[in-house]
Amino acid sequence: MALKDFSTYFDAGEFLFKEGDRADFAYIIESGSVEISHQIGDRKLVLSKLGEGDVLGEMAVVDKQPRTANAIALEPTRTLEIPIDYISEKIQDADPTVRMILRLIMYRYRDADARLRQVFDGILPIDEVLPNAESTISSTGELKSVMAQFLDMQQRISTAVNMPAYQRGDGPGGEQTLLSTKILVTQDKSIKSALQDEEFHLCFQPIVELTSEKIVGCEALVRWTDSAGKMIMPTQFIPRAESTGLIVELGYWITRKACEFQFKLACQYKDPPFVSINLSGKQFEDKNLINSLADIMDDVGVVHDQVKFEITESLLMDNPEIAGDALKRLKETGAKLAIDDFGTGYSSFNYLHQFPFDTLKIDRSFVSAMSSNVKSNEIVKSLVHLSHDLGMDVVAEGIETNFEVDMLLQHHTDYGQGFYFSKGVTEEEFIKLLK
Ligand code: C2E
Ligand code: CA
Ligand code: CA
Repeated sequence: MALKDFSTYFDAGEFLFKEGDRADFAYIIESGSVEISHQIGDRKLVLSKLGEGDVLGEMAVVDKQPRTANAIALEPTRTLEIPIDYISEKIQDADPTVRMILRLIMYRYRDADARLRQVFDGILPIDEVLPNAESTISSTGELKSVMAQFLDMQQRISTAVNMPAYQRGDGPGGEQTLLSTKILVTQDKSIKSALQDEEFHLCFQPIVELTSEKIVGCEALVRWTDSAGKMIMPTQFIPRAESTGLIVELGYWITRKACEFQFKLACQYKDPPFVSINLSGKQFEDKNLINSLADIMDDVGVVHDQVKFEITESLLMDNPEIAGDALKRLKETGAKLAIDDFGTGYSSFNYLHQFPFDTLKIDRSFVSAMSSNVKSNEIVKSLVHLSHDLGMDVVAEGIETNFEVDMLLQHHTDYGQGFYFSKGVTEEEFIKLLK
């Protein structure tokens, strides 16, 4: 996946931020160097010089306080900005123990910083900061001692949280964390800008009634054409959208577009095809998911039972209680529910009577194994029976051959989807297929 360059450039002498500024970003230095300093009156105390791979500005971002230092580029410098919202979200999602430790570190750091300034201003005698300090040391010496203590603390924090080193020579753990952060931040920015730049679109794969080969519905499948014109498939970016949390925003966009298409079909056809929308497990972490989906359906004006949401087993496995409650509420909106990719994962039959599914989608792996494997055939046959007994209809996925259609018909499978009928197509092409 081609990732855009989201770097911010600073000329030599340009401020990244000044004391008192609102903190909107932390920065990773990609190239160049930055000096961090305190300015009090006409005196300047240089706290550090940072170079490639160093992180700065994170403290004010973490505790949402104004900047307590100046950061100035010493040469042309390239940085990757990490937005405050991104960091806040990650902290919110963190383990409570990690949050508690972070709060403690912030408190101690701020305290040390304040004392350093007071020494610098001559308000606080050096022995209050460093009880063992010689009272005879020169003022430069005093400052150096306090600075050393302060920098040592920063170093220890860096090591403790496995962040890239304040000074050079950090171990591989730190570099790895930095690299992962850079990748995650860049992916986040890529997907966000793709949403803004309208680089996503949906294609619709027909779902047909096997006995009549009539199109009864379609599954919305998302595609990304990047700024270079390259088509990126969902398997390449959905996991990234999930790990960055952007699947929530993308998921709403997909739902809206898919509902709009169904509404368009409903305006043109007496018996319009329904639309099936994939929901990822991550979307269920959004507390407003169900209300927001209902709002989108209402807003677009689609009849709720013309919309089907597809959920995979892994969602149910990871969080059966939350999922159970959410699915019940989703069902109450009047939308239909399908269990997707059935036959992969654990395929617990428990899910089938525990959750209010209308449709079971048999995974492609079973469908394609039918021709070579007698057992797969038996499994498909039993699954269809069981689904019907439980009041669900069945869609067989990934149908590619006439043989598969014949076998599925013998097993009384209701519906099918696959390249044998059509791949995912544009709205216009889909409408042509209906004629
Ligand atoms: P899925 O939900 O199982 O979607 C069906 C996938 O199988 C689609 O791939 C489709 O193009 C492909 N397919 C359909 N018929 C055949 C066939 O006969 N043979 C073969 N070999 N493949 C077939 P696609 O579009 O690449 O999507 C892959 C997966 O990405 C989807 O699997 C789904 O898990 C995810 N995905 C796609 N669109 C969305 C979306 O809008 N939201 C979310 N959350 N996930 C999506
Ligand atoms: Ca699906
Ligand atoms: Ca599937």
